[in-house]
Amino acid sequence: MLSRCLATALAVTLTACAGESTPAVRATPELPLQTPLLAPQAPVVDLDGRLHVGADVAAPSEGLPQVAAHGGATVSHGTVRDGVGAAEVIAYLLADAASYASLDDGDGTDVQGLPEGLVIRFAAAPPTVRVAAGTPATLVDDTVRVVQAINAALPRAWQLGFSPDPIPADASAPADGDIVVTFAPQASWTADAIPPGDEGVGLAAPRYAIAPTNDPEVPWRIEIVAGQIWVDPAQTEGLERLGVIAHELIHLLGRNHVDPGRFPPTLMVAGGSEELSEHILHPLDREALHAVYGRLAAGTTPDRIAEELGPWSVTSLHVRGELEIGAQCIAFGAALRNGLAQPWAFGPTPDSNLEDNAALPGSVLWTGRLLGLTPHTETVAGTAAMTVDLANLSGSLDLTGLERWPADAAPGTPGSGATWHDGRLRYGIAVRGNTFVQTGGDAGLVTGAFFGPSHEGMGGVLVREDLSAGFGGTR
Ligand SMILES: [Zn+2]
Repeated sequence: MLSRCLATALAVTLTACAGESTPAVRATPELPLQTPLLAPQAPVVDLDGRLHVGADVAAPSEGLPQVAAHGGATVSHGTVRDGVGAAEVIAYLLADAASYASLDDGDGTDVQGLPEGLVIRFAAAPPTVRVAAGTPATLVDDTVRVVQAINAALPRAWQLGFSPDPIPADASAPADGDIVVTFAPQASWTADAIPPGDEGVGLAAPRYAIAPTNDPEVPWRIEIVAGQIWVDPAQTEGLERLGVIAHELIHLLGRNHVDPGRFPPTLMVAGGSEELSEHILHPLDREALHAVYGRLAAGTTPDRIAEELGPWSVTSLHVRGELEIGAQCIAFGAALRNGLAQPWAFGPTPDSNLEDNAALPGSVLWTGRLLGLTPHTETVAGTAAMTVDLANLSGSLDLTGLERWPADAAPGTPGSGATWHDGRLRYGIAVRGNTFVQTGGDAGLVTGAFFGPSHEGMGGVLVREDLSAGFGGTR
């Protein structure tokens, strides 16, 4: 049986779920400003009429076989060849390493002995991003959105922090472990461009440290221990500005410039990528972050990249659910490739913020399903029920009847799996605009959004050590 999302192939519903085009642009409320404390949450982007929660990893609905119906949700499961692939990731990292063949350590001293280059990375502990004091809320929002997009691509064990405490504008060099972001006219920037090529719009100044190792083959290594970023907000705006902030931040995570003719699909070309993405990072940028911080040892030399990377698959395991709301649909699920599970959810953008929807009663209930993947490729599914009290814009998300199916196996009908843990998870949630995040409850981070012109639906993602899942529901 085809879901209505698929059957009405010529209507907007298919394209809204397939992600190949977007519904007609309507005047919809802006997403709420992101603040430093929200940096660990999943990114939420508005794709001109569709809100997307989580990384840009949804499988196309026509690419996966439908395997079950869970209440009103159709469930599909399978593998899709949607990755960059080992050859391209290795070629990119080799080109990047070669760009460090002659490295200035920041004191004007060339570091010798790297004729083949080096894969540079930030130190063992992930950095904490901080903005300069006085940074306007809209530019803090831009910076947090970039950090959320980068964190969605990084391993769970290596996530960027974001301090709520700004750095005084007259502070000297950043402390070890800090990345300080300053928005200011270019004339006031106080560092040399390293590497050159971004002058005018943005600039990244890493601080390197050289540390001895216990490895006789690699007796010392060089790593980035702190850094500063400048962005001139008058010279760039919108998606381009998000791309500039991401480009400079990724410089401080060790990536340099590569040849735009050879690697057009990356932000990391001199002057920034020509192609802008609402999701900020391109697939190659995301896989390079995952490879360097998930697989490669610190101080990897080019001849060891392929061996240290190990098996690097081009295919992802996907689980996907779809629910109808009116003539449109909500989709949600998770993708798992090379050990990194990433959940996602999307649906139509509401016409107003939840608190401004006068047609809703004082307490609203949405019910639906959760579908996710464990790090061991097991599918987990269950019932999702969310209640929101409109008077205080808070509520709870209850996930019950959670069950799992064996590794790589397609999920069956509800009740055919084995109980996952004790079968339930519960989170308190708080609403901001048309989004919500967890305020407490079980371990895990919940990020979600309301969907449909009159908030007929909701959906989001749950990220835990043992589960990455998308969920959706209707009221
Ligand atoms: Zn650059």
